[in-house]
Amino acid sequence: MDKKKQIDILSNLISIQSVNDNEARVADYISSLFEPYKNKGVKIERVTYAPKRDNLVVTIGEGKRILGFSGHEDVVDAGDLESWGSDPFVATVRDGKLYGRGATDMKSGLAAVIIAMLDMLEDDSVPRKIKLFATVGEETGEYGAAQLAHEGYADGLDGLIISEPGNAMSEVGFTSKGVIDYIITSIGKGAHSSQPERGINAIDHLIDFANKVKPLMATFDKVDPVLGKLTHVQSIFNGGEQINSVPAKAIMKGNIRTIPEYPNQVIFDALGDLVDKLNRKSGYNLTIEYSFPEEAMPGDENSDFIKLIKKVHDEMFEKPLIANGQTGASDGSEFLHAKGDFSIALLGPGNNTSHQSNEYVEVDVYHKSVEFYKQLAKEFFDQ
Ligand SMILES: [Zn+2]
Repeated sequence: MDKKKQIDILSNLISIQSVNDNEARVADYISSLFEPYKNKGVKIERVTYAPKRDNLVVTIGEGKRILGFSGHEDVVDAGDLESWGSDPFVATVRDGKLYGRGATDMKSGLAAVIIAMLDMLEDDSVPRKIKLFATVGEETGEYGAAQLAHEGYADGLDGLIISEPGNAMSEVGFTSKGVIDYIITSIGKGAHSSQPERGINAIDHLIDFANKVKPLMATFDKVDPVLGKLTHVQSIFNGGEQINSVPAKAIMKGNIRTIPEYPNQVIFDALGDLVDKLNRKSGYNLTIEYSFPEEAMPGDENSDFIKLIKKVHDEMFEKPLIANGQTGASDGSEFLHAKGDFSIALLGPGNNTSHQSNEYVEVDVYHKSVEFYKQLAKEFFDQ
């Protein structure tokens, strides 16, 4: 596909305001790009998560061995519009950079894998079976990828590349930390502060939890050789109603970044035990909830898949590819739940401008990434 058309596809994707919603319009647009090739055996499946929120699975080619490409359709909020040099939803090229919300994270990566597949269809060079997964809700909990994995769409994969930003195609992520966001609610009993004995202080009980959870999390002290240690941050604390009342309710939120050495269940059990122990004390009423926890993604830098990615990359790019671990979770954590033994790699044309104003992608890196995905697909099936 010529470079102008490649830019048009990315610009069209950016113009769809899929800010934590509206992914169905992205799915519509991607479908429209593959429709003309339906006579070449293209299979398009829409997997609805919620109204206006559709995942899309596009399968091309035949064969037992399957290569997966994946990208998310959602973007984060544009933030302060004043701090943008141009409209975040109108792709604008200045000095070799294309600006717009999602230019880096990750509509450029999504566009690049789509174009690679369209080119293969156009030239009748589809090597064997390739599946595209375009997901909803990556930024707010990876629930699109979770749905696709649980409903079997990703079963039987032999390798999956997620085209999330890889520092302008210079770094591949092969393992990542997991995430546990927890919310502790402490319920007490309100009373006039002049008679505190009539109430139950929800804040006191929450502070008791807060003081105990810190050393508890510190006992998970194994060190992953790539990802380092598990981390824990108590990030939100809210409580009380007014200055002369005994607080009836208090809430704390915490964020834990896990490593493959500790499956999330181990952490859930430890937190649950602490809550149970405290609730045995008089007047305590603590509950814990979790919001979209993600498992850590184990990975091996020396797997055949990562080695192939490095080889293909290093033949095309000047600097050798750096393999590293990621502190943030991605759809990879959810695709792990699919049946089959396969490696996952994160590599795409975006850079370090994710979630910022004036997010951009280098235009030449974007075009080059299309060539990379095509070459990778070819060599993957030669392996
Ligand atoms: Zn992303």
